[in-house]
Amino acid sequence: MTTYHQLFIGGDWVTPATEETYELISASTEEPIGSVPAASEIDVDVAVSEARRAFDDPTGWATWHPTRRAQAIDELADQLELRADEMARRVAAQNGMPITIATQLEGRFPLLVLRYYANLLGNTEFETRQPHLLGGTSTIRREPMGVVAAISPWNYPQTLASFKIAPALASGCTIVLKPSPETLLDAFLFAEAVAATSIPAGVVNVVPGGREVGAYLIGHPGVDKVAFTGSTASGRLIAETCGRLLRPVTLELGGKSAAIVLDDADLNLESVGERLFESLLVNNGQTCYLGTRVLAPDNRYDEVVDTLGAFVSSLPVGDAMDPQTMVGPMASALHRDRVEGFIEKGRADGARIVTGGCRSERDRGWFVTPTVFADVDNKSVLAQEEIFGPVLAVIRYRDVDDAVRIANDSRYGLGGTVWTSDPERGTAVARRIHTGTIGINRYLPDPSAPFGGVKDSGLGRELGPEGLNAYLNVKTIYS
Ligand code: NAD
Repeated sequence: MTTYHQLFIGGDWVTPATEETYELISASTEEPIGSVPAASEIDVDVAVSEARRAFDDPTGWATWHPTRRAQAIDELADQLELRADEMARRVAAQNGMPITIATQLEGRFPLLVLRYYANLLGNTEFETRQPHLLGGTSTIRREPMGVVAAISPWNYPQTLASFKIAPALASGCTIVLKPSPETLLDAFLFAEAVAATSIPAGVVNVVPGGREVGAYLIGHPGVDKVAFTGSTASGRLIAETCGRLLRPVTLELGGKSAAIVLDDADLNLESVGERLFESLLVNNGQTCYLGTRVLAPDNRYDEVVDTLGAFVSSLPVGDAMDPQTMVGPMASALHRDRVEGFIEKGRADGARIVTGGCRSERDRGWFVTPTVFADVDNKSVLAQEEIFGPVLAVIRYRDVDDAVRIANDSRYGLGGTVWTSDPERGTAVARRIHTGTIGINRYLPDPSAPFGGVKDSGLGRELGPEGLNAYLNVKTIYS
């Protein structure tokens, strides 16, 4: 059991305003694994005012030379690196992410993101001068927006928090992070890492809470910018609040991406199995950008279905802490029930089950049997709704134009892949897909390139220089 009694606010461990706690449960065993205090609205008020004070400090974080901020961000990366294995263990135990994946991603990816932004500071001009068109000079300054409310989901709690925290820190903003109630033990370890750096008190604050606390935070008068990753339904509510308040907001939302298998694709699992896994199934299907709509050409349809069926049924399912496990449990009982509901709906709608489709035989843990459906209609719920579990829907197409049409016939536009032996041909197809990101024969987010969605998948971009711009206001001084 990992137990915390205090909250990390204002650079210190403080006693929370109420005695409410969150009990963390292992997704694999359903055993209790930890307990942390819950933040109330009173704690959020204190956290926002501490972030405000840190931001307004006339010699504070926002005024530090970018090189000094970069050093502090690197220190945070170093402190997280010391805790990387423990971080991976905490995430895997809470949300069911297989430990090998948690070690590579949740343990390591945030370090890459932090170091990328620390390095970017060396190449970023925060003030430039140019001749005024009517005579004189225009000085253009890029200034930190202020206090950031950062809200993260449970599926990649550390990685997705780092997409916000790293550029916010780099810009000179201060942060109130609200992690998801399902994944809090990692957020407290992150707070311990922050406490071990020279990042000043109040620059990073952590308020564990549910959607009410989140809603209170994003509407708080002391907040200047909102950065959110989560479901489209929550994103819409947050956008409404931010619209009313005219508050800048970045929204990374749901997805239902297409994996377009062209007729010349290599389907040999020895060569493509790992990349297929990363692009279609990683983290038990609980990844926003996965290509869970597999578009297969008429002339290789049966081969695609058989290959995916054999591949998915061969994946070792088990306890997330077991290094052999490729597919772990769902993050909560509620979510497991939701995913099973989609499987039932697919069956009722007449889609053909190739593998899976039945309840897991395990008596403990929130497992869903990895499932492949064939003969799926792109208009059906299976093809249109984000299931967020290990469930693939194979859809038949006639020719490339038909594949592009089906891929774009979705309210989402976050990820996608094209599978082909000819990368040029794949890129030509990728250009036609209405999406924020897309991969050829693999899908691997790049910390130095923008990431985000179109349509119901979100607004704005994280990562890359665009991710830094999302935390900067532009001011022009005429002289
Ligand atoms: P969720 O929307 O239920 O919750 C996400 C976070 O927002 C949690 O911390 C929650 O407490 C908080 N929240 C919920 N409602 C809120 C409100 N009205 N105001 C403020 N905060 C609120 O999502 P989830 O179930 O935790 O995460 C899964 C979803 O996240 C999926 O839809 C997935 O696609 C999406 N996601 C998107 C990306 C991306 O980059 N586009 C990445 C990962 C996950």
